[in-house]
Amino acid sequence: MFDLIIKGGTLPDGTTADIAITGELIAEVGRLDEAAFANAARVIDATGDLVSPPFVDPHFHMDATLSYGLPRVNASGTLLEGISLWGELREIASVEDMVSRALTYCDWAVSMGLLAIRTHVDTTPDHLRGVEAMLEVKRKVAPYLDLQLVAFPQDGLYRTKTGRENVLRALDMGVDVVGGIPHFERTMEDGMASVKDLARLAAERGLMLDLHCDETDDPMSRHVETLAAEVTRHGLGGRAAGSHLTSMHSMDNYYVSKLLPLIAESSMAAIPNPLINITLQGRHDTYPKRRGLTRVKEMQAHGITVGWGQDCVLDPWYSLGTADMLDVAFMGLHVAQMTHPAEMARCFRMVTEDNAQILNLEGYGLAPGRKASMVVLDAGNPVEALRLRPDRLAVVSKGKVVAERPRNNARLTLPGRPATIRRRHEG
Ligand SMILES: [Zn+2]
Repeated sequence: MFDLIIKGGTLPDGTTADIAITGELIAEVGRLDEAAFANAARVIDATGDLVSPPFVDPHFHMDATLSYGLPRVNASGTLLEGISLWGELREIASVEDMVSRALTYCDWAVSMGLLAIRTHVDTTPDHLRGVEAMLEVKRKVAPYLDLQLVAFPQDGLYRTKTGRENVLRALDMGVDVVGGIPHFERTMEDGMASVKDLARLAAERGLMLDLHCDETDDPMSRHVETLAAEVTRHGLGGRAAGSHLTSMHSMDNYYVSKLLPLIAESSMAAIPNPLINITLQGRHDTYPKRRGLTRVKEMQAHGITVGWGQDCVLDPWYSLGTADMLDVAFMGLHVAQMTHPAEMARCFRMVTEDNAQILNLEGYGLAPGRKASMVVLDAGNPVEALRLRPDRLAVVSKGKVVAERPRNNARLTLPGRPATIRRRHEG
């Protein structure tokens, strides 16, 4: 009767349930009878395992991914050397190169249960090869992975002659979200003008807005304030986000006490990228050395939605990465010191439900009528998943099992003791 049942798993809220799937949708969540199991086309036993809605990444650069070392590595480890390195690479990378690397990354993502990604696409070069490549990737992966594209003027909206024109061209080609980088414009005035320009553009076209905003250690940078004000002015609310916001780490506490309510009032979301921010920021400091992560707990205390983003994997800005959003949340948990049990559970929600909300994903979540997309993890609960970053035993996308992996138990043969099998998440 059902096409697939995920049997007896533990949901992120701690309840256990069978999840019955028909076609692309969840039909039932609860206790099923023996007849249902006997008649199902397939049953996956998830007893003792965590069953979660899929991971979601709200911030990535898929046009640059898996290019580490091309044409050479980033020697200083700074954001600015990364940008100039990428400037060389995008001129020599073909559409085929970018499509092939991005598809490999999407395979990694699916295997880790990451089924929705918002990726910024550089619109700086007039050839727009990156846009062409990412639109093709989006079409190719659409049956199993939701890709959202952001028109991202990497070298500034006004700092290059065709910066603004190319953002418009990319949106006309079918890119979904309006992007920007105010802290990289020539002056604070240009940065402010770019935020106003881009917010108006998003409002006029009915699009979402997601700016790289104040990815800097400069405590005087004020683009977050402008972004919040423009989002409020245009009523962009739940459709807008500020990525990075690292200037807030270094700001004066009194000023931040004014800024946090402004962000909350706007209803825009924040997307810190902890793996990247902890490595790129503070590079000009000696000691003490700033962490460069924005104020995550403080924003959440003001009711602001905050989602952890991956940002980079093996590219001019970051030499590591695995497409595992649990790695991202693990780093974020440490850098933001979110160690209380409720904060750790929140870190798991940040890479699932909170990120889904930021992307405005439709049909997300483990409830009847929603999309049948989920991941079975070799862990007992969300906090254990963060601790172990365990194997993804099964990944289901829109009703289809798209990745599976056998349980990887350790066989112990210790002197003077009988051989035993040690399962990772059992005491
Ligand atoms: Zn970015």
